[in-house]
Amino acid sequence: MLSTLSKEKRSFNVEEIRKDFPILEQQVNGYPLVYLDNAATTQKPNAVIDAISRYYRTINANVHRGAHSLSDAATQEFEAARSTLANFVNSPAPEQIIWTRGTTEAINLIAHCWGRANLAKGDRILVSELEHHSNIVPWQLVCEEKGARVEPVRVNQNGEIDLEDFHRLLDERVRLVSINHVSNVLGSVNPVKTIIDSAHSVGALCVIDGAQAVSHFPVDVQVLNCDFYCFSAHKLFGPTGIGVLWGRKQLLESMPPYQGGGEMIEQVSFSGTTFNGLPYKFEAGTPDIAGAIGFKAAVDYLSVFDRAELEAHEYSLLQYCIELGRAFESIKRIGTSDTQVGVYSFLLDGCHPADVGTLLDQQGIAVRTGHHCAQPLMKVFSIPGTVRASFSIYNTHAEIDRLFAGLEKARKFLQ
Ligand code: PLP
Repeated sequence: MLSTLSKEKRSFNVEEIRKDFPILEQQVNGYPLVYLDNAATTQKPNAVIDAISRYYRTINANVHRGAHSLSDAATQEFEAARSTLANFVNSPAPEQIIWTRGTTEAINLIAHCWGRANLAKGDRILVSELEHHSNIVPWQLVCEEKGARVEPVRVNQNGEIDLEDFHRLLDERVRLVSINHVSNVLGSVNPVKTIIDSAHSVGALCVIDGAQAVSHFPVDVQVLNCDFYCFSAHKLFGPTGIGVLWGRKQLLESMPPYQGGGEMIEQVSFSGTTFNGLPYKFEAGTPDIAGAIGFKAAVDYLSVFDRAELEAHEYSLLQYCIELGRAFESIKRIGTSDTQVGVYSFLLDGCHPADVGTLLDQQGIAVRTGHHCAQPLMKVFSIPGTVRASFSIYNTHAEIDRLFAGLEKARKFLQ
């Protein structure tokens, strides 16, 4: 009976879901908040806020220094969080989950540890033109140091990675390919499985930046067969300041440590120091214990829903937005891939995106404007930036009506 109950999913009801997110009840600038900046960060349900608060109120102590009961309790919850995250992406083992500060630090960790130990003069790293800066700059830094090169794979005018260009660039001097699963600017879902398999066929490793993917659909690192997968808690209803680097065990074991300090060592002496095993080798210093516990609460929260229902809701929001956009005079949608999730990027004729964002904000509507940390992609479309509305499970069709009513006002004011 119990096991049947625990497998039961909470049925999807957007109004009920909204009650889980206290921030959504607010008025902003005199209007009920319409939060459409979920690709930047998602809001947090009570379950996450309460888990973090409970940790500090009842078991706050440092982990892995089990001299007392609180430390034992904190350690148990901290490691339980790692196991939950391992299950979340179907990792073969919890020790392949390395806590980082987020996707940015996860990618920097790979560049720093794997890149410095393995790259040589003349080696190449492929990224696409639609990467977030955090999946470009860490590679540039390490390539500069090692005499290697970062090369961009072209993106077409629909906002899709040009696979022909990818195959043209791929040869045995390519040591690593690093691609995002979902574009933060356009929401395009990239053909990562094809890219991973092709990278492996020339002996290259493949890193997937999953920052924008994990909140929209389930991810299975074993099915993908990638070498590294990176994501952040805050884009998945969890707290800021914590994320995950998932890596293939053999690779992680072969990589030198990231930072030196407590926890990452086995023995320290002035004649030589030996390092801890996975995952601690990469986790120097006191970790973000509350963050890990909050991250677990976010994944547990998500796991009570049928993800297919959540995906269907987000799909219907996006389709509704695209439909209203088609009927709206002078909107130009940027990114028209058939495989898109959660993002509607656009420009209003003759209006600067920042002005549109400000006028929407005055009406209580939060969107993001600018280059979205993807300047090379802005160059592909020859634009300075876009207005981006990004959706999550708690958004409603009525909020998209509010967005277009707000745009109508902005247009009248600006054009
Ligand atoms: N990659 C993508 C695709 C993103 O959208 C983001 C954040 O917007 C990042 C990486 C960086 O994530 P974080 O700032 O959480 O490290």
